[in-house]
Amino acid sequence: PPFAPAGATAPRVPISFELYPPRTPAPIEALHETIQQLAAASPRFISVTYGAGGSVGGRSLDVLRYIREQTSVEPLAHLTCVGSTYAGASRLIREFLDAGILSFLALRGDPPLDESEPFLGDLESSAQLVQLIDRAQAERAPYQERPIPGVPGAVQVTPRRKVNIAVAAYPNGHPRSTYRHQDIDALLAKQAAGATLAITQLFFHPDDYFAFVERSRRAGVTIPILPGIMPITSPARLSRVLELSGEELPAELSIALEVEPTVEGRTEIGIAHAAALVRELVDGGAPGVHLYAFNQHRTVLGVLEDAGILQASGAH
Ligand code: FAD
Repeated sequence: PPFAPAGATAPRVPISFELYPPRTPAPIEALHETIQQLAAASPRFISVTYGAGGSVGGRSLDVLRYIREQTSVEPLAHLTCVGSTYAGASRLIREFLDAGILSFLALRGDPPLDESEPFLGDLESSAQLVQLIDRAQAERAPYQERPIPGVPGAVQVTPRRKVNIAVAAYPNGHPRSTYRHQDIDALLAKQAAGATLAITQLFFHPDDYFAFVERSRRAGVTIPILPGIMPITSPARLSRVLELSGEELPAELSIALEVEPTVEGRTEIGIAHAAALVRELVDGGAPGVHLYAFNQHRTVLGVLEDAGILQASGAH
C-alpha cells in the first residue's frame, strides 16, 4: 500500500490525522503530547499543513521531524507552490527530502488576499508540484549510505524508498472551479502527474463523497480517495470553515451547536455528528478516514471511538 501502517494495535480501518505548525514558537509541549496520543492510535500517517508563502515552512518541518524521530508514524508534509519560483519550490522539496520526509500532499495554495496583484509563481497548479516532487526524488541517488554503529568506516547501503505524493480533492467543487467537471479534470491531471492518493476537503453529507468518488471513477481516477472529516465543536469554527471551504451550512448541526449552552455539550454534539459521518463513510466502502485534528487529540480520538473504529480506552 502507498502508506504503510505504523503500529501494532490496528484500528478497524486506516486512519490518519492533520495537524498545523504552532503559530508562535512556544509552547510546543502540548503539541508533542497530542502527537504522542495520536501516534498511539496507529495512524497510517500524520500530516502537517504548510502556510502559503512559506511563512511557517520551518515550523512545519520541525513538527514533521518530531513525528519522524519520536514516533513510528509516517510524517506527511503539505507543500504549497503559489507564489514560489521554480527554483524556490525545488529547493524546498530538497530540504524536506534531506530531512527524511518521504510523503507529501502537493497543493497549489491560496494567493494572498491583501495584495492587489500577488505574484502567483512559476507553477500554475498542484499537478505541476506533483511532477516537481517526482523529479526531485528521481534526481537523488537510488540508494543511501548509513554508517554502521560500532564499525568504523563501514556503511550500510540501502535502496531509497520511493516518495508518496497525495493531492487534494473537492467533493463539492473548489470555490475557484468554473464548471462542474473541472475538479475531476484537475484530479485526473494530478493522478497523471504521479499522485498516489487523494484527500478530500471537508464535507458534511456522505452522499457528497460517494457521488464524487463515483464520478471520479467513471472519469478514470483510480487512486484511493480518502475522505477528510472535520469535527465541528463550536458555531465560530463552523462559520470559519464554511467561509474557507465554500461548503453549504449544515442546518441541523448549526442549530444544535447554537442552542447548546456548554462547551462540553457542544464538544459532544460535534463528536457525535462526525462519528455518524465516519460510520456511514466506512460502511459505504471509504478506504479509510482522515481527520482534521486542530492540534487536539481528544476530539478526533473521541470521534473514532464513538464510530467504533478505535477501541474505547477512556485514557484521553
Ligand atoms: P489545484 O489542484 O491546482 O486546483 C484546485 C481547483 O481549482 C481544481 O480542482 C479546479 O477545480 C480549479 N482549477 C485548477 N486549475 C484552474 C485554473 N487554471 N483556473 C481555474 N480553476 C482552476 N492550503 C495551504 O495553504 N496549506 C495547506 O497545508 C493546505 N492543506 C490542505 C489540505 C487539504 C486536504 C485540502 C483539501 C486543502 C488544503 N489547502 C491548504 C487549501 C488549498 O491550498 C486550496 O484549496 C487551494 O485553493 C487549491 O489548492 P489545490 O492544490 O487543490 O489546487
